[in-house]
Amino acid sequence: MSRCGGWFRQMHLAAFWAEFKGFVEVDQVTGCWNWRGRYSERGYGVFRGRLAFKVAWFAVGREKDFGLSLHHSCFNKRCVNPDHLVEIPGSEHMKIHAEHWRAVRRSTG
Ligand SMILES: [Zn+2]
Ligand SMILES: [Zn+2]
Repeated sequence: MSRCGGWFRQMHLAAFWAEFKGFVEVDQVTGCWNWRGRYSERGYGVFRGRLAFKVAWFAVGREKDFGLSLHHSCFNKRCVNPDHLVEIPGSEHMKIHAEHWRAVRRSTG
């Protein structure tokens, strides 16, 4: 019973957003919420020891199924905007990123 959502519900929503948004810089062009706080080794924002984008996902009242992973539709892993996250199966997630990197390599030669 120690899921992220449970941890999150212990905090007051307004106080949470005030603190969380203090670490966020909104990109007016892309709509991304770029994280300005600490980062994990893999380059993801960290809020109070947890992945910031996952915290945001639960903060807007979403649930997460085990076995599904959260993908940044904006391909910006610094982004913590819950609207830029989609829940997809892990196998599909790997495929999306493989295709993305192929496309990036093609465009940069
Ligand atoms: Zn984004
Ligand atoms: Zn992804």
